[in-house]
Formats: sequence, structure tokens, C-alpha cells
Amino acid sequence: MVDLKGQYNQIKDVVNPSIQEVIENAAFINGPKVHEFQKNLEDYLGVKHVIPCANGTDALQIAMMGLGLKPGDEVITADFTFAATVEVIALLNLTPVLVDVNPDDFNINIEAIERAITPKTKAIVPVHLFGQCANMEGIMSLAKKHNLYVIEDNAQAIGANYTYKNGKKLKSGTIGHVASTSFFPSKNLGCYGDGGAIFTNDDDLAHTIRGIVNHGMYKRYHHDVVGVNSRLDSIQAAVLNAKLPHLDDYNKARQSAARKYNEAFKNIKGITIPKLSNGCENGICEQCDCHVFHQYTLKLEGIDRDALVAHLNENDIPCGVYYPIPLHKQKAYADSRYNEDHFKVTNTLVKTVISLPMHTELDDDQIDYIVSKVKSFINA
Ligand SMILES: *Cc1c(COP(=O)(O)O)cnc(C)c1O
Repeated sequence: MVDLKGQYNQIKDVVNPSIQEVIENAAFINGPKVHEFQKNLEDYLGVKHVIPCANGTDALQIAMMGLGLKPGDEVITADFTFAATVEVIALLNLTPVLVDVNPDDFNINIEAIERAITPKTKAIVPVHLFGQCANMEGIMSLAKKHNLYVIEDNAQAIGANYTYKNGKKLKSGTIGHVASTSFFPSKNLGCYGDGGAIFTNDDDLAHTIRGIVNHGMYKRYHHDVVGVNSRLDSIQAAVLNAKLPHLDDYNKARQSAARKYNEAFKNIKGITIPKLSNGCENGICEQCDCHVFHQYTLKLEGIDRDALVAHLNENDIPCGVYYPIPLHKQKAYADSRYNEDHFKVTNTLVKTVISLPMHTELDDDQIDYIVSKVKSFINA
């Protein structure tokens, strides 16, 4: 699904000395590289504060701790996402409230959020799934109306833009009260191990969070709040610093692969190509970066998805099903309050989506081969 080695070979002349420098200086934790990366990412995103941490799951948890959410508070999030999102809500003894998503862009559905709001609701966690922002304008106005926090799970969409109706553009992860991201190796900006970060424009919240990531310390050995140990190590920061200047090109390479897939699949019966929902209609955005294609996900109708997966695998083509089981049906997160009628979309998507190989090193021959094997399976 990804080609991390091919990507590394392109940048090793920059990455290797950057890692070497950390080892020579022996500043492994909170060294200058971490600070440098933090500043560079703040500039790239146009956000006031980036707080690096150990991984994207911690980033979400710490964001919720920073907002002071309390046991029993209800947090609304999407039923169709990676489990990390709901896991940290449950771990903090907050009450996860899973809601349905849109059938076309797979992102959290505004009406479903609105229906799920109760007097106990304190926050909404939109996940910018597969590389494209949720309807942030709608979510922010709903949040304002009901006095809720918005925590963007930006693990899959770093570098994407969100375009407002009036044309204003902001980077994903800089719109809500706080956002989290992951630098897991296969993410759009990945390091060579685990890493993550929290973003916010709120000075007080940033201060609170900087203490939480470091054992709740604001002054050495004074623990004012219960914190965690969640740090981005300097070697990972060195890798990320070397890769950040390439992020836009990496995302462009993903968009270019997506355009080729789209051309190949757009008129095929039973296949729906990804829908761009912010600003760009039909086709792939070339200017606004509304979608950075963490995944390239097709929706099938009348085609046996699992047999297609098997067929592609037999032809040495890896492919993925993100996600095969809706969160509300997972043992850990099932809840008698849930009504199957409220999950019509996710219950269908889990059976009909397929994600094709998508990364920065895909070449035309590989894409042609993948397309031909999909087409031969469905006799198109
Ligand atoms: C990858 C991912 C995470 C978790 O990130 P880790 O760094 O693996 O902890 C959280 N949410 C979403 C949507 C993700 O894709």
C-alpha cells in the first residue's frame, strides 16, 4: 500500500545527516531538532502553536485532557474511522457518541451530529477521513450554537486545505479549538517510528497542553495537573524536519495518482470514484488541495468487494478495506443506546469500500497494472 523505502531513497542525503546530528549531539529528548520542527510546522500550517507528542492517539487524548473534559461528558464522533478516535474518549471515561457519516465523502454527517446533541454534549471530533476535511463550516457553527469544543482528528489530512463558502482557505487542523495529527510512517507526513502533534491557536490551551505532555509539570518537579509522558523524540523530529519541505510535493504526487485512477474508473458501472466535497466538483482539485488522498477509496455497487480484494491480492496488488467493521459494532464500543437505523451509511460502506495502493512513489506502470486488474475482474 505504501513505498517508504522508495521515498527514503529520494531524501536519504538529507535525512541521514540530520539523524546523525542528533546522535552526535546526544540531545535525544526535547532537543533542538524538536523545537526546530515545531516552529517549521507552525509556519507551514499557519497555526500559533504546535505541541509535538509521541503519537496521534496520545495527541487526541491530550487535546481532550487539555480542554478539561470530565467523566460523563458526551463526545460526538464518526462511526466510520480508525478506533483511536473513540478509544481515547472511552479511556478518559468520557461518553463516546458515534454518529453516521456521509455516503459520498465518508465524513461525519452534520444532521447526525445535530440529532445526537444533548445537554451533556461537550465536544465534537470530526475526523478528516482519507485526506479530505469534514464540513468544518457547518460543524463550527453547530458548535458555536451549542457551546461545544471541536477537536479535529487530522491524522489523515495534513497539508489539506479547507475552503470556506466565501473563498477563505485554512489548513486542516487549524479550524477547530484544537487538533491532533499522527506522524505514523504511512501517514502523509510520516516519521521512522511513532510521532504525533497537537495544534491550537489558543495560547492558554497551548500552555496547559505543554504541561500535560510532560507529566503535568509547568515548573520542574511541580505537578499542577495529572499529565502523561508523551514526547516526540529528536531522531523522529530530524526525519520530520527533512520531510516537511517535501510535504506539498508528496501530496501532489498522491493527487496525481488519484487523477489517473479517476480517469480510469470514472465511467465504469458499479464504481464510484472519490467525491470532493469542499469547493471542487467532479474531478480532482489541481489548485486548492482540498484532498490529499491519504487513501484512494472506491465505492462498489453490484461488485463482490471481498472477491475483488482476493483477486488483487492474487495479482500481488495490496489493497485495504478501511474500515471493515463500524465502531458501533465493535465489542469495546457497542452500546445499547445505538439504533441500527441511525447507521445506515456506515453499515453499507463497510461492505462496499475498497482502498487501492496510494503513495508518493506510484508510477504510471504500476497504476496501469492495478487498473487493468480491477477492470479484468469486473469485465469492464
Ligand atoms: C493513524 C490515526 C490515528 C492514530 O495515530 P497513531 O499515531 O497511530 O497513534 C488516529 N486517528 C486516525 C483517523 C488515524 O488515521
